[in-house]
Amino acid sequence: MWCAIILGGGSGSRMGCEKNKVLLDVCGRSMLCRSVAAFRPMTDEVVVVIREEDLAEARAQLAGAGLLDGVRFAPGGSTRQESVWHGLCALPGECDRVMVHDAARCLVDADTIRRVMDSVEQSGSGVAAVPCVDTIKQVDAQERVAATPDRLMLRSVQTPQGFETALLRRAHLSAQASGYLGTDDASLVERLGVQVQLTMGSRRNIKLTTPEDRLMAEALLKNQATDLPTLRVGQGYDVHRLVEGRKLILCGVEVPHTLGLLGHSDADVALHALMDAMLGAMALGDIGKHFPDTDERYRGISSILLLEKVVQLLRERHARVTSADVTIVAQKPKLLPYIPQMRQRVAEALALPVNRVNVKATTTERLGFEGEEQGISAQAVVMVQETAQPGA
Ligand code: MG
Repeated sequence: MWCAIILGGGSGSRMGCEKNKVLLDVCGRSMLCRSVAAFRPMTDEVVVVIREEDLAEARAQLAGAGLLDGVRFAPGGSTRQESVWHGLCALPGECDRVMVHDAARCLVDADTIRRVMDSVEQSGSGVAAVPCVDTIKQVDAQERVAATPDRLMLRSVQTPQGFETALLRRAHLSAQASGYLGTDDASLVERLGVQVQLTMGSRRNIKLTTPEDRLMAEALLKNQATDLPTLRVGQGYDVHRLVEGRKLILCGVEVPHTLGLLGHSDADVALHALMDAMLGAMALGDIGKHFPDTDERYRGISSILLLEKVVQLLRERHARVTSADVTIVAQKPKLLPYIPQMRQRVAEALALPVNRVNVKATTTERLGFEGEEQGISAQAVVMVQETAQPGA
């Protein structure tokens, strides 16, 4: 069982305000909410360590963001180390792996967390770190340089820091027994003589300590736009030529007619527009890219089968169509009698209720290529919902 201890216990003195800094807003969401939102989908429970006087506001913020589920609280301590200990004491008994994270590193991303978790599972510990870009000087009490360690062998350590829970608990008890106060959890484990494994952190995983840090975080957030809504829209358009000697298939339904659509596959222009809309919503290009008409595998293939492949592509990206609207532009034949069957086929392929799928047909008053019966065109619009991504 994986848990995360999120430390929000510090005071806001360096941020230049009275309020606890982790409750401050960064681009519309508090640091605490951002940190909890990063860990909650990847762990079984989260323990938020927060000062008594901040508890009500922390709880209200998390409730407002829909993040209270699976979150418990522990009181902040007088040192960071004591706060972590309070968090450890609040963990559920089944928790055998734990990450400690500073709420002020609220830009932490899922990849960093995943690397830490993988490392703990492989070696018992995993600590996010990045190579040092600055040359570090060791100094004496008079600010004179005592040594210049080789930068290549130096790392800046971040959080999350992950451990087997029993190991971290033992490290804290040992530190308490000898009065040792460390600035991070790894140092307590190192004292036990246990090897601590570092993993790649992220340059964006900055700790927001000063007002300047907050400005930097806002710039990073605006740049990466992590708060984009999970709803996407896509549109598709396709045209096929009408010829003799081909079947007319629209939305997977064979429509009796003297002419049919010419194409490499079954030339189902309506489904092609629909698939392009789905791929468009996910920024995955178009069907020509995924099913090239030079590929013999797709010769004469039913477009319903291709649609199922596109549904699968979306599923792999944790996305699904939630509604679709298809317009077929054809002078002839009359399509109205076939519309219910078309909706049914599309709804089945998309695993949607029929009332989430619309198919409509129009003529062009004999204008243009559709009106002159040289071809049929189709347009489609879809709404796509991205669901929770494991690790996002
Ligand atoms: Mg086509």
